Amino acid sequence: MTERVVSGGGPDTPLMQQYREIKSRYPHTILFFRMGDFYEMFEDDARLGARELGLTLTSRNNGGAAEVPLAGVPVKAAAEYLRRLVAKGHRVAICEQVEDPKLAKGLVRRAVVETITPGTVLTDDWLVQSRNNYLVAVGAGGMAALDVTTGELVLEVVAPTELEASLARYEAVELVVPTGAKLPIPSAARGVTVTEREAWEFDPELAREDLTRSYGLASLDGLGIAAEDGPAVGAAGALLRYARELKPGGLPHLARPTLVRRGDVLPLDEMTRRNLELVEPLRAGAQGATLLEVLDRTLTPMGGRLLRRWMLAPLVDTAAINARLDAVEVLVRDGRGRERLREALDGVRDLERLAGRAALGRATPRELGALRDSILRLPDAAGALGGLEGRARAAPLEAAADRCDLLTDLGEELARALVDRPPAQLADGDAIRAGYDRELDDLKSARDGGKQYIASLQATERQRTGIASLKVGFNKVFGYYIEVTHVHRERIPPDYERRQTLTGAERYVTPQLKEYEAKVLGAEERIGTREAELVDALRRRVGDAISRVQATATLLAQLDVWASLAEVAERERYVRPDVTGDVTLHLEGSRHPVVERMMPREAFIPNDIRLDDAGRIILLTGPNMAGKSTLLRQVGLCVLLAQMGAFVPCRRAVVGVVDRLFTRVGASDNLVRGQSTFMVEMSETSAILHGATARSLVLLDEIGRGTSTYDGVAIAWAVTECLHNTVGCKTIFATHYHELTQLTEELAHARNFNVAVREVGDEIVFLHRLEPGGADRSYGIHVGRLAGLPGPVVARAWEVLKLLEAGHHVAHQAPPRPPDAAQLALFAGAPPHPLLTELDRLDLDTLSPIDALNRLAAWKKRLEET
Ligand code: ADP
Ligand code: MG
Repeated sequence: MTERVVSGGGPDTPLMQQYREIKSRYPHTILFFRMGDFYEMFEDDARLGARELGLTLTSRNNGGAAEVPLAGVPVKAAAEYLRRLVAKGHRVAICEQVEDPKLAKGLVRRAVVETITPGTVLTDDWLVQSRNNYLVAVGAGGMAALDVTTGELVLEVVAPTELEASLARYEAVELVVPTGAKLPIPSAARGVTVTEREAWEFDPELAREDLTRSYGLASLDGLGIAAEDGPAVGAAGALLRYARELKPGGLPHLARPTLVRRGDVLPLDEMTRRNLELVEPLRAGAQGATLLEVLDRTLTPMGGRLLRRWMLAPLVDTAAINARLDAVEVLVRDGRGRERLREALDGVRDLERLAGRAALGRATPRELGALRDSILRLPDAAGALGGLEGRARAAPLEAAADRCDLLTDLGEELARALVDRPPAQLADGDAIRAGYDRELDDLKSARDGGKQYIASLQATERQRTGIASLKVGFNKVFGYYIEVTHVHRERIPPDYERRQTLTGAERYVTPQLKEYEAKVLGAEERIGTREAELVDALRRRVGDAISRVQATATLLAQLDVWASLAEVAERERYVRPDVTGDVTLHLEGSRHPVVERMMPREAFIPNDIRLDDAGRIILLTGPNMAGKSTLLRQVGLCVLLAQMGAFVPCRRAVVGVVDRLFTRVGASDNLVRGQSTFMVEMSETSAILHGATARSLVLLDEIGRGTSTYDGVAIAWAVTECLHNTVGCKTIFATHYHELTQLTEELAHARNFNVAVREVGDEIVFLHRLEPGGADRSYGIHVGRLAGLPGPVVARAWEVLKLLEAGHHVAHQAPPRPPDAAQLALFAGAPPHPLLTELDRLDLDTLSPIDALNRLAAWKKRLEET
């Protein structure tokens, strides 16, 4: 279709010229163009906005040129529209009128004051409290993640093969990538807003200069950044440039960067994260199905965010892991102390984001009040920490106690300045406590004095005039007035000036009244200005202390997470794992932390699992529903818990640290991708064969299932051989193909195990108990029966099974009833088509002509239907 060119032939109006000039600088961005009480969108933006927000598309006259499509939202309701657009992944630039229209000569000047994108949202109630909102820049070989709400910046050098796993960990809401770079953006990031920036912006040298300037340093050495971190530094440069462009106010709360180097954390790719149901359930909306839900007993938002981060980034270094475990253990042992600490933490609000908003000049008086209240809780938290029994056994707790900055000066200042319950908005007034600021107090007493005088005026004027019904009132248009009913018109003194006539009364002012009114109203305005100044000074005061607040917030977050892990450990009877640098993984009496919670206490059957040099591959067989997948996942979860520094759901546990954890689930078991294909399954499996090392743990659940039985068994066989002979990693392979049990005859380090069932007549009972040895049968028909397959189908299945097992070709045996005969009839020897049978049986002697016709029609119809 060719585009219809509509043109009035004339040039744009000046307004449209201004619009186009601004719009040209914001491609791929919806421009909210302020016009009076509306933000207007034009042209393509208008069409998009109208569609996404369900607005009416209108058009605007554009002088001699063509009409321009237009859609607008009222400024008062703009926040909600903005939220919806950003939630859908759009970028919106807010273009304001930057001069007073009344004073403007000609066209009002306009400029973009802020751009809002999913990764740069600052509005608190658009954000998920317990989750970081990461904007992530990805360049070749490095990435950088920024949470604009907290100021946290992470730099990470990543190998291309690990990009996916690293990205998955940040759960980015927006990606920044170099234009034209063909980066392997993983599927998890699909649907995420992707912003392209010029490739030069990712230049490490340029970024180095930018970062040294940002942090006021002579070189980046002070941040622990080395030459080989270049790619990550480059990404950070592009990221900061972008973020500053969107937030013209800058990033005053930008914290010093944290560095993540290769080998610092255990890579968990997207599939593993999903299959283990770490933060989201496989079935959308399922409640209580994730590990996070079981573990998260944190009391502060920053604690919640940290727990999530720790869970998605388990450690690899045994010393670091044990340090965390030491802290958890102290808190497990001193239950009283833990309770005290948790009580203190309970009143602490989102220190990180509150301080960030203050530094950005956005905190409301109420938010500053929340910051104050949180800071005032710190001595309690520090007291509880100091009083912990056996604290000396945990270095991180000792360090926290030593380093904890109680922010006393800041807390006191906020307490002195703010009223007990500050208003939600600055405009609501009365945020500042009396006695804090002399000027404000003077203004207030001037105002109140004026008000008092005016209030007393009614009495004095009544006396002076002798009019008992005289009233002093106020309205927005006329200000203060004196009201007298018509009856008393003759008694009006000469200094009364008439202002307004009502049906039964007249309203007057006096020079004196006006004078006081001016005092009151003038004071009122100056009070507003002064309060705004004072609140702003408080924000700056917080901004100046931002790095101290951030440090304290980090400590509190850690305490909160350790206490939460300890709380869970005690309630759910977890034990401290013995984390070592060896290969051996030995879980005694291990349970699935999530599945066990969905059952009555003690109902979950614990199992022992051992993987070591001698037996590093377990072939796990057993019928469907036996508990293979559960066991497989619980091993993965126990290792992950141990490596994040948490206690584990076992009676005893020895965990040799792993360097990679892979979990794959065969195609038809894989609920995640609905449309999942065998191809996906195979490419994921091949990624493991390439990525795994001898120190990795690989958990394969029914791999090979997405194809025919023979192909499936063959592939599973070959994959297991490769893992055994070439990779040498710890592996659990769960399969209902009992044929695979023969593999152990060939592979020296592989062992057969099965999840036991007991056969009782035609029925089976699931014992959920792990036993050495392979399963001898699949019990598929038993399970089918349990699942409610009709009796005749089950009976027929038994027959077919017998034939198959006896080596017969089933199709050559007479079936009990004709199956899909329409097709079979094509072949000789197959049963006749049902219509033929009917025809054969038809008694023509008794058939009337009309019956014959009807029957013919019915047959024809049936033939067409098949
Ligand atoms: P499979 O993978 O062998 O088909 P699943 O692991 O999916 O079996 O387990 C099927 C069901 O059995 C689970 O939903 C769970 O309710 C139950 N189950 C599994 N393991 C146990 C156990 N150790 N103790 C009690 N119930 C279990
Ligand atoms: Mg299964």
